[in-house]
Amino acid sequence: MKRTYKFRVYPTTQQATTFTQWLTTCRMLYNNALTERRDAWETQKKSVRYCEQATQLKVVKQTNPFLKAVHSQVLQDVLRRLDKTFTNFFRRIKKREKAGYPRFKGKYRYDSFTYPQSGFALEKNKKTLWLSKIGNITIKLHRPIPAEGVIKSCTIKRDVDHWYACFAVALPDPAPQTQRKIKNAIGVDVGLSSLLTLNTGNTIANPRWLRNSEKKVAKEQRRQARKKKGSHNRHKQNKNLARAHRKIRNQRKDFHHKLSRKLVDCYDLIVYEKLTITNLVKNRHVAKSISDAGWGQLMHFTEYKAEEAGTLVEYVSAYHTTQLCSRCGKLVPKTLATRIHSCPYCGLDLARDHNSAITILHRSRFYGASRSLSSSSGQGLSIEPV
Ligand SMILES: [Zn+2]
Repeated sequence: MKRTYKFRVYPTTQQATTFTQWLTTCRMLYNNALTERRDAWETQKKSVRYCEQATQLKVVKQTNPFLKAVHSQVLQDVLRRLDKTFTNFFRRIKKREKAGYPRFKGKYRYDSFTYPQSGFALEKNKKTLWLSKIGNITIKLHRPIPAEGVIKSCTIKRDVDHWYACFAVALPDPAPQTQRKIKNAIGVDVGLSSLLTLNTGNTIANPRWLRNSEKKVAKEQRRQARKKKGSHNRHKQNKNLARAHRKIRNQRKDFHHKLSRKLVDCYDLIVYEKLTITNLVKNRHVAKSISDAGWGQLMHFTEYKAEEAGTLVEYVSAYHTTQLCSRCGKLVPKTLATRIHSCPYCGLDLARDHNSAITILHRSRFYGASRSLSSSSGQGLSIEPV
């Protein structure tokens, strides 16, 4: 089992300059290696492989002081990243999917470098991270890495003006959890007006602090739109906007962790509808709010927490979940604007999302089995007053 642990690091001004310099060097190497592959293909229909580029790198390095300054495995990792991009590209072509040719990385599009095996160490005091060719950097381990975990790699990441260290940690596979007996099942509808609506009728909205941050992002966005393109002020405003985005991203992540924890603790079976989020995001009108709501992240968190707890997470077909009546099963067409499900056949009146959540639960394979038990016997889920 592999998990990533991300911690903030606090480099000195000089160390931060080195980080930035390394990023530039890595980006140049990436772009040059990409050029080589592209030219070889265009002129000789020849494909260049990772090993060839890695061998070449050893030679080029001798005369290039910038390359020489960077840890050799970090450079190799750059080539490996490029190689991966190409592998994905070819795989997509083979599957006849839409595939864009690997792209050059612009100045702000290259944000991390990786020590893939060695060259880094967490000091015993847990307050410093040693990086080969850079030195000791202050790190804040806000949560422990399990003692039985083996750190496989270390990636240094830039996020606007913050730096992070991400460790890929191999953990022993957890003992297979015995499936909890399904006593409490819950159907969950994810939506825009409320983040979640449960089949019990409870709704969970994004908390106020998250909504406030959303407003702040919108404000920074408007400010940015007023600045002239390419101007110094525009660049400065870009940074402000990126900071606001970072904040909201972190807050949302935090909230999704708490919310998924509660769901997993309260229920033995959690039923979501299968969302093809990539398709939804293509629709521009709902796109912004959907990518902001980050349902995918919430579902992913629920899934892996559930796995460790022996809870079942099930995804059911999303076909017509909003349109069908959850009591009589008849089709009751409604537009996005219709917020109430009002069935002319059986007379059921429910909030639109509440009706969907019930339908979602009913579609569960396990619902029949848990039916004798009440689906709403959980005392409802409450997440901090919002
Ligand atoms: Zn009905």
